Amino acid sequence: MKKYISFSATALALTMMMPGLAQAQSDPDWTAPTAPFRIADNVYYVGTKGIGVYLIAANHQAILLDAGPEAAAPLIEQNIQALGFKLSDIKIIINTHAHLDHAGGIAQLKRDTGAEVYASPGDRWALEHGTHDGDTNYPTGHFPPVHVDHVLKDGETIALGGVRMTATFTPGHTRGCTTWATQVIAPNRVRNVVFPCSLTIGGNILVGNKRYPGIASDYEHSFALTRAMKADIVLTNHPEMADVLDREARAQAGQADAFVDPQQLGRIVTTARAAFDKQRAKEMRRKR
Ligand SMILES: [Zn+2]
Repeated sequence: MKKYISFSATALALTMMMPGLAQAQSDPDWTAPTAPFRIADNVYYVGTKGIGVYLIAANHQAILLDAGPEAAAPLIEQNIQALGFKLSDIKIIINTHAHLDHAGGIAQLKRDTGAEVYASPGDRWALEHGTHDGDTNYPTGHFPPVHVDHVLKDGETIALGGVRMTATFTPGHTRGCTTWATQVIAPNRVRNVVFPCSLTIGGNILVGNKRYPGIASDYEHSFALTRAMKADIVLTNHPEMADVLDREARAQAGQADAFVDPQQLGRIVTTARAAFDKQRAKEMRRKR
């Protein structure tokens, strides 16, 4: 609790110095509890109100995708247990990307579950140093570093029990941003589920990024790659980007296919691409 208070105080102090930072660094929804639920088949939501964290389970073994910010780790552990899983059921922890709102809780979850952490080569350094790897227009903050036990290959499928998750590297937002995919039966047929990595700017400098010079072309590559993916169900690490919690409310109200939306991923890419083009044009004007 002490840590949380000091984090908030720091965030508040920084906000007063730099308006707009709070939005980028912290959001009260990130650490606000929400009840966990089953999305489809063996895929569960165990995140907070503002951060999507997903559990993909096979019998008594499970993969955890992301772990929220450091302060949300206890909430995520409670959510996992509320669904009837033991923390020790989690054997592998994977990550969409090494930012404090999605990776800050991994160190605690790793400690409490005994799971191994699998990550892309591009995000390994950031995870092991607990900070963003690249030039940004605001301080991106620090999170508890965590050792990476297994470095993924692009296109690698990890299998645990009956669960298979495939990694596709979609860099830009971070160097090792990873989009995950699996298949579920829902309702009554096979559906592709995609967990996209973030495609937003996130404070990244797009033109003249000294630490990450290839950032703009990486984004462009990832827009194309993500747009080409076939996704019946899209589960985002910021739930509002795919209306994940609203869809759950509709599912509760009886809509059997509330999570099925093959156009969702394309809409996310279109929005992100427009923001990217605008930001890059602005930075290029400033350079001249
Ligand atoms: Zn991020």
